[in-house]
Amino acid sequence: VGEAPKQIIIIGGGITGLSAAFYMRKLLAGQQISAEITLVEKSSSLGGKIKTLRRDGFLIEQGPDSFMARKQPILDLTRELGLERELVAANPKAKANYILHKGRLHQMPMGLMLGIPTEVTPFIKTGLLSPLGKLRAAFDLWLPKRGTTGDESLGGFIERRLGREVLEQVTEPLLAGIYAGDAKALSLQATFPQFRQLEQRHRSLILGMLASKKQAREMPKELPEIARRSLFLTFKGGLGSLIERLDEQLSSIRRLTGQAVTEVRREGRRYQVRLEHGEELQADGVIMALPAYEAAVLLEESAEIQAQTQRQIQTLRDIPYVSVANIALAYRPQDIKLPLNGSGFVVPRSEGRMITACTWTSSKWLHTAPENHILLRAYIGHAGAQAWTKLTDRQLLDAVRQDLQAIMGITAEPLFTELTRWGRSMPQYPVGHLEQLAKLREGLAVSHPGLLLCGSGYEGVGLPDCIGQGRQAAEALLPFFKQ
Ligand code: FAD
Repeated sequence: VGEAPKQIIIIGGGITGLSAAFYMRKLLAGQQISAEITLVEKSSSLGGKIKTLRRDGFLIEQGPDSFMARKQPILDLTRELGLERELVAANPKAKANYILHKGRLHQMPMGLMLGIPTEVTPFIKTGLLSPLGKLRAAFDLWLPKRGTTGDESLGGFIERRLGREVLEQVTEPLLAGIYAGDAKALSLQATFPQFRQLEQRHRSLILGMLASKKQAREMPKELPEIARRSLFLTFKGGLGSLIERLDEQLSSIRRLTGQAVTEVRREGRRYQVRLEHGEELQADGVIMALPAYEAAVLLEESAEIQAQTQRQIQTLRDIPYVSVANIALAYRPQDIKLPLNGSGFVVPRSEGRMITACTWTSSKWLHTAPENHILLRAYIGHAGAQAWTKLTDRQLLDAVRQDLQAIMGITAEPLFTELTRWGRSMPQYPVGHLEQLAKLREGLAVSHPGLLLCGSGYEGVGLPDCIGQGRQAAEALLPFFKQ
């Protein structure tokens, strides 16, 4: 009686932290537990990497632009926020995807999942791979499965099964769009564990993909109709709608924006959380929804930690993050002669271009440009190609326009451009990542009970995975607050 309510502090107001706050509040209310939630965000606005800009009738995504449609956590959140009717599918007429090969755009053969053929005829016909490259890929049908079960690199795995040509010409450029990563350095288990399972179960990756494609047709019934029609979805008002709706729903909790957390210390059974401007908050539970390197800084000083856990925190700090940028460019239809009959193209490193990909945004997402206008988005930066960070905005724009001229023949001055730089934004899960993470979590459960880590640095960079992680962190924290 008369006891002050317990306190939960969520650090980071990106999609992970906001999801954690949303589900934490819901779980507490459901169990009639009175605890107060405070969300602390360094920048002046919520949303983290999600940033939707409305300009001259265009809808410009400066960060993510869509999400995988068949992932439950984001579909659940969409329903709980009442946003289902706002969902939009990618234009079914823009399914084709192109890849730059020896300076020219080639259509990506249908049914090529990150380079793994799931349809035979388009794979045999494609001019993207040499006859030898195709033959090498077909070896997958006969090669034995790997005996050991430990992690390996995604690139090593694809090369082992399908050969180097598939890896370099198809897998790597497609991957650049998701992780901006070097396939030879990324962990297979932390990125595409399903590939490994297919090999274990079916021996051949191609045969396994064909079998799982059949299963995919028998999708769970709870999926909204729209998620059956399109592999990717977004919202009519952009992904920013998700943040706006979460912001509204969370209006009753305390939000401190424009303030970084500078220190987290365990004292007795509670945490002392220091903010940038000197304020100290006390918490009984803490969720860190931050990039791994930021969490590592806060954790290193925070408690008496065993040397082993200290080393694991160091591995958290060592997860490489790649810097990327993107430029949105608006045009009039007469400025572009190339028929934009697809969703865009990707660029292999061997082509020696500045851009790694270009989305034909207004063709893929019809709601993003006013009538008679075209919106493109070009991407820059991947692992091992970071020299661009030293260039000025003008230099970047010039380089991108040169690439678009060479590849798409565009010489016209764009109506406007929007450049967004995202420094250290794309985590590169190293081989063994999940194992390290499990050990770290074990150590933290002892040294920091009631402190949880979640976000794109850990178990998936996609928005659905981030939402799922925020929700799991809230669920894991709940038992600490049960009377
Ligand atoms: P963040 O969004 O990084 O949020 C972390 C927050 O913590 C930030 O707001 C930061 O300001 C705050 N913070 C940091 N330090 C402190 C501190 N000390 N104190 C308080 N606050 C702090 N995913 C998709 O599913 N689809 C896509 O199309 C897609 N495209 C992408 C395109 C780009 C350019 C990028 C960069 C990512 C893309 N992703 C995409 C990945 C996805 O956007 C991210 O993985 C996800 O948004 C990360 O969310 P988060 O909440 O974990 O982290």
